[in-house]
Amino acid sequence: MFILGMARSGYEVAKVLIKHNCTILITDMKEQDEEKVNELKRLGINLIITDSPEELLDESFDYVVKNPGIKLEHPVCLKANELNIPVINELEVAYHYLPKNTKIVAITGSNGKTTTTTITYEILKAANLPVHLGGNIGYPMCSILDDLKENEIIVIELSAQQLHDFSSFKTNIGILTNLTPVHLDHFKTYENYQRCKKKIFDHHTINDLAILNGNDQDILKLTNDIKSNKIYFSASKKGDIYLDNDAIYYKDEEIIKLDEIRVKGNHNYENIMCAIVVAKEFNVSNEIIKEVLNKFSGVEHRLEFVKRFNNREFYNDSKATNVISTNIALDSFNKPTILLLGGLDRGHSFDELLPHMKNVKFVVCYGQTKDRILEFCIKNKIECYKKETLEDSVKLAYNLSVENDVILLSPACASWDQYKKFEDRGDDFKRIVELLK
Ligand code: ADP
Repeated sequence: MFILGMARSGYEVAKVLIKHNCTILITDMKEQDEEKVNELKRLGINLIITDSPEELLDESFDYVVKNPGIKLEHPVCLKANELNIPVINELEVAYHYLPKNTKIVAITGSNGKTTTTTITYEILKAANLPVHLGGNIGYPMCSILDDLKENEIIVIELSAQQLHDFSSFKTNIGILTNLTPVHLDHFKTYENYQRCKKKIFDHHTINDLAILNGNDQDILKLTNDIKSNKIYFSASKKGDIYLDNDAIYYKDEEIIKLDEIRVKGNHNYENIMCAIVVAKEFNVSNEIIKEVLNKFSGVEHRLEFVKRFNNREFYNDSKATNVISTNIALDSFNKPTILLLGGLDRGHSFDELLPHMKNVKFVVCYGQTKDRILEFCIKNKIECYKKETLEDSVKLAYNLSVENDVILLSPACASWDQYKKFEDRGDDFKRIVELLK
């Protein structure tokens, strides 16, 4: 076995393969964590740090196991194709070693994967079902193999990159949340990206379930010929699961009222609909679904409800690193909103925010983009205050707010001018909110 790229998934797959008596070579361009390298060495696994791993690949290898993030045209992949060596990934290996009758619930889409995966897992767990969480959400499937027993359930988030290298992997329930042309640097064309997403339904029969966005024309076209039993969800028109009278209905049965759901926004209601369909497949009661959705305050940093303080609501949407995501957040509130915008300047325009700002009372901007945001607000007659840091912005927003306002961090910019990653920015926001007096 030739493992291309170590990281977490290469490390986990190596440990699984060595247990099954494979001979393994791992290559990576960068030095790796010393403790892990020593552990692999003790197990008899050879790690070579090199810029030209293709020189090490020859006919003696049966498979290349590629880290999903590595480009498809990497010289090792090209050489593997020439030598007729299949290129697979960590999940495909794990699939091969799954206990009997494991049920796989898999989630993909351009947006909403982590949220849908988390809600689905939380509901099944609350129902005391034997369920495990894995995939792109931070737990390589190989890392949960040891915990799995026969007849259990895995809920996995799948990226298009992971799906690309699937061959025999088959899901029992596949969810496709939505499709937009993203990751084109990796996939080159939208068609190619869509083809990868469709693989979540590979090998399906009418006994398998496809949960599909009934509004998304690209999805409808793409899944026209899949063999699965299809269930359509939509927050804006009637489907198998839909919104009506401020409640979610599944096959015309009321499941939950919207005011019993903590997270907001049609996009979140659609993520929830997917989770409800899965829950119903496993016969989970409406009471348990309600209990979970009543508490679930969103995945961290994704329109996450932080707290209610002095009758103001604080939301952390630090993951919104572009204008489209901020628009989705703005569309989720029907209340006066104070919007915190700013961060790394990539030269992108803020004009597209405008049609979504009808509830925005004023903007507080900070970071590298603050001058351009101020300019955008002046041009469009939106009240705006400029600050240097997020901390000063939150304090000002709070001081100028009144009861019933929403104070929303949805910055429409990457965080790298002032933070290492968007998670650090979100954590900082929550820290500042906690300290408000
Ligand atoms: P992913 O894992 O696919 O990146 P997340 O669940 O982490 O998706 O959500 C990231 C952002 O995508 C959210 O903050 C929100 O702006 C947007 N989003 C979430 N769910 C949906 C959805 N169903 N449709 C469209 N956009 C969504």
